[in-house]
Amino acid sequence: MSMIQEANCIRRFKRVCGDGWDQGWHERNGGNLTYRMTEEDVKVCMPYFTIKGHEWVDMGVKAPELAGAFFVTTGSGKYMRKVALDTSDCIGIVEINETGDAWRIVWGLTNGGRPTSEFPTHFMNHSVRMKATDGANRVIYHAHTPNIITLSTLIEPDARRYSRILWKSMTECIIIFPEGVGVVPWMVPGGAEIAQATSELMQTYEAVVWTQHGLFCSGSDFDETFGLMHTIEKSAGLYLSARAAQGGSEPAYLIADDELRQVCTAFGVSPNDAFLD
Ligand SMILES: [Zn+2]
Repeated sequence: MSMIQEANCIRRFKRVCGDGWDQGWHERNGGNLTYRMTEEDVKVCMPYFTIKGHEWVDMGVKAPELAGAFFVTTGSGKYMRKVALDTSDCIGIVEINETGDAWRIVWGLTNGGRPTSEFPTHFMNHSVRMKATDGANRVIYHAHTPNIITLSTLIEPDARRYSRILWKSMTECIIIFPEGVGVVPWMVPGGAEIAQATSELMQTYEAVVWTQHGLFCSGSDFDETFGLMHTIEKSAGLYLSARAAQGGSEPAYLIADDELRQVCTAFGVSPNDAFLD
C-alpha cells in the first residue's frame, strides 16, 4: 500500500465510503464523494502525484474561484464497497486548471478511471458552499438513501413540506439543519441541468433531496457531512415507520411548531422562519 493512503484526508475519505456502504446507501456503483483538500493535505500527498500522461479534461462548468484546487474524488462506475480494498483504483486526486473549468488526474484512478460522472455537480456545489461558508465547507457527498427516496414517492417535491416532516419527526433535527432541506424535482442525473438546479439550492441549504434518487449533503469535514446525511435519512425513516404504523395516515403526534421554536431558542439556532407556522 502506498504511503499516501495513510494521509489523514485519504483515511477519512475511505471511512465515509465504507460507512455509507454499511448503511445500505451505495448499491452497486451508487453514490459519490468529493473533498476539497487543504494546503496541508496537498503538501502531504504531493510527493505521490504524477501528471505524466494525464491530460486536462473540460468539465462543461466553470468556477474561477476553484482554480488550482485539488479534490479527492470517487471514480465513475466505481463501487463504494471496494474503496477500502482497491483504493487507488476506486478513488483519485484531481487538480483544477488555472481557469477553473478542467481537471486532470494527479493520483489514483489507476486502470484508466475517471472522476465520478457527477463531478460537475460536485464541483458547482463546492463553489457555492465555499462562498456561502467563507471557505469552511470542503465535503460534498451523494448517497442513495432509501428512506428519503421512499418519502419522495409519497409527498410532493416541496422544500417546506420535506423540512417540516424531517424536523417534526426527531427533536434535534432542527438544530442540525435549521435552514431545512432543498428539493430538486425529478431530473436526469449526471448533466449540467441538475448540477445547476442543485447548486442554486445549495446557496441556501446544506442538504438537497434529489426526488426518487437520494440526497446531496455538504459540510466542513467528513464527520459533519456524513452526520447530516445520517440524521436526515434517519428522520425520514422514523416518519415512514410512524406513518405505516398508523395505517398510512399522518402521524398524530409530530413535534409542534411552537416546540420546534423552543428547541431553537434553547440551542441558540435561527430556523428558516418560512418553514414554520
Ligand atoms: Zn445517484
